[in-house]
Amino acid sequence: MFTRKLTCLALLMALILGLIQPTGEARLVSLKEQSKKLELELDGQRVFVVIDGSLNISQSDLLAYVRSAALAVGKVYGQIPVKRTVIRVEATDGDSVGFATSTYNDDEDYGLIEIAIGRDTSRETLDQSWTLTHELLHLGFPIVEHSKRWLAEGIATYEEPIGRLRLGMIRAEDLWGDLLLHAPEGLPQPGGRGLNNSSSWGRIYWGGALYCLLADIEIRQKTGNRYGLEHALRGIASSGGTARSNWTASQALAAGDKAVSLDVLASLYQKMAYDSYSVDLAQLWRQLGIKKTAAGIVFDNSAPLAKIRQAIETGQ
Ligand SMILES: [Zn+2]
Repeated sequence: MFTRKLTCLALLMALILGLIQPTGEARLVSLKEQSKKLELELDGQRVFVVIDGSLNISQSDLLAYVRSAALAVGKVYGQIPVKRTVIRVEATDGDSVGFATSTYNDDEDYGLIEIAIGRDTSRETLDQSWTLTHELLHLGFPIVEHSKRWLAEGIATYEEPIGRLRLGMIRAEDLWGDLLLHAPEGLPQPGGRGLNNSSSWGRIYWGGALYCLLADIEIRQKTGNRYGLEHALRGIASSGGTARSNWTASQALAAGDKAVSLDVLASLYQKMAYDSYSVDLAQLWRQLGIKKTAAGIVFDNSAPLAKIRQAIETGQ
């Protein structure tokens, strides 16, 4: 059954509405019982799509959405991080992509993503939707206890646009523009506490993403751009620390550090999880060579960390 569950957008809304976080209960989805399912196979990893209700788009358009999300995750992890994934689509009213959750079905051994998609959603809307990429990324990291959820949400928030950029779904200006806009929400308030004791949406998602950006830069600096955060994440997944595992956050970070022969993830975790660790964002953007102008985001390729910025964009 489902012992652990991540509720992403639903959590976000609950926080916005001031409600208590979800209970973690989930409906049983038995793969064996699903007679009508679509199936994709990507590099040996199988993805099943089950539709609850009916959508006014073609199956091929829906599968294109699933395929592009899976390929975007592959741009970060090399492949979908677990062998079998079930994507359960709930057809809802409207024309947009709504709430989604990720969990792992221990009994039947598959990652489960439940996602609400409006009946009148268009192919264009699906092409612009980051939600499924975000959820699939969650399958690469253990579903850790609530106080450390910022790590899982940070990884998905940070890596989702990177994967989609590398797949050509968004532009570099979109990736960095969003980070420039939202990273301040991830900073601690004056006198605030570490990320493990933060419950605000901004701290969980963008504080976590900032942790990932800082780790990515440090790994790349220390390895001359040979490795980045994605290599640490691949190391975590390949040594067993996926959503299928019951690993702790510390176990996962240790495996990630070991994969790149560094101590970046654990030591940055010590600083950001327990203390009110702030970041000089203006200086960080300057070093990366990212500037917001009236005409939009512009890049300075002579900035000291410009090569690292480019490596994050391309994965090369
Ligand atoms: Zn999430």
